[in-house]
Amino acid sequence: MRYVSTRGGAPARDFDGVLLAGLAEDGGLFVPEVWPEFSAAEWRALRGLPYAELAARVMAPFMCGGAVTFADLQRICRDAYRGFDHAAVVPLVQLDAGLFALELFHGPTLAFKDLALQVAGRLFDHVLEARDERVTIVGATSGDTGSAAIEACRDRSRVDIAILHPEGKTSEVQRRQMTTVRAPNVLNIAVDGNFDDCQALVKAMFADAPFREELRLSAVNSINWARIAGQIPYFVAAALALGTPDREVAVAVPTGNFGNVLAAWAARRMGLPVAKFVVASNANDILARFLAANDMSTTGVVETVSPSMDIQVSSNFERLLFEVLGRDAQATERTMADFRATGRMAVPDQVWRALKRDFAGFSLDDEATLAEIARIQRDTGYIADPHTAIGIAAARECAPVGVPAIAAATAHPAKFPEAMHRAIGMRPGLPERLGDLYHRPEVFQRSGSHLAEVQAVVRNFAHRNNA
Ligand SMILES: *Cc1c(COP(=O)(O)O)cnc(C)c1O
Repeated sequence: MRYVSTRGGAPARDFDGVLLAGLAEDGGLFVPEVWPEFSAAEWRALRGLPYAELAARVMAPFMCGGAVTFADLQRICRDAYRGFDHAAVVPLVQLDAGLFALELFHGPTLAFKDLALQVAGRLFDHVLEARDERVTIVGATSGDTGSAAIEACRDRSRVDIAILHPEGKTSEVQRRQMTTVRAPNVLNIAVDGNFDDCQALVKAMFADAPFREELRLSAVNSINWARIAGQIPYFVAAALALGTPDREVAVAVPTGNFGNVLAAWAARRMGLPVAKFVVASNANDILARFLAANDMSTTGVVETVSPSMDIQVSSNFERLLFEVLGRDAQATERTMADFRATGRMAVPDQVWRALKRDFAGFSLDDEATLAEIARIQRDTGYIADPHTAIGIAAARECAPVGVPAIAAATAHPAKFPEAMHRAIGMRPGLPERLGDLYHRPEVFQRSGSHLAEVQAVVRNFAHRNNA
């Protein structure tokens, strides 16, 4: 399997190269040169398999021809999902006659990013082992992504990971999920600054070529193809459980970077019959506005009770754009350049109409989100976190009648105790495994927000581990 860049200016790569590179050299995103497709009989053959086995079979075509054999992938998936809190890994909970919550929060950090990152961390190790190389993964986080990346990389032998967070500006659960991990290859840096400062520092470290080479910097951010590949199998598992391929389903996904929606779309591109994709957002509703009026224009990011969706530039949308523009890399490059220059994007009218047949947009502001959490609890007894509640409302409002709707439940409600308290007057408890999170010792290093200072901290850490 080979991958090409959405902007057409980078050489094609195999899976291993795409995994380690993340972003293509031309600034584009990697997509499969040819999409793998499963026949109805092949989908049916996956029914009833343990999740790890299903995941390996769905992801296998994307890794063909590299260092990861099918047997490796099977072992990696078994190992990655062994520690999940639920035997089904991604249980499907029925909320009413045609509405289902697909629970993606039974992994180590209680959010859906674990599903892909637990596999991606092990893939990194495997590919680096085969090449006898090491990398230092560097990233910035405002909350969920950092802890999921740290959990994915702890105990890996070929990877060191340094995560920057803005000191005092993440929630306590989110901070503790990062800082209580005790592993020699994990470094938490509390930066005296805000999230934008942290992101700018990471960018600057990657832009400093000698530093980048010296530490062999790498990233596992949401544009890495391995992240998308790891998110396709759970949509397959849920759809199969509801009778696919012999009937259609709809999916509703609370989104920020569009990664999870893109994974659902990829499942359909591989032949899974999905009738509708409902794209759900909070007050940062750029995608809903685009689907309503063919005008994707950025406004400032506002803070909400669903912080993992507080994003105005949905980086993974570029992959869908490339596909709906008929895989025309030049047109994709032009559209993205215009968007960067003007903060606005429109697509040709017939393209937008075609998108509207498959995608519906939906958004809720904070007040409506809290009311929705209360409504879901009253009507069904289900306790949904703020992100999940937006997805469930979207499924109810926008999924086609008569088609079972799968709403992605992206986080455990215990991650957002204050919002839950405001909505339903209680703070959901953490799973037993994390019951002592508030009493575990925290380990992190403080740094000012000067590039040289942060680089010195990262360099000391990486050299100590490579010595
Ligand atoms: C990251 C995240 C999202 C957004 O996912 P994207 O793939 O970026 O669209 C939604 N909900 C939760 C809880 C998340 O952590």
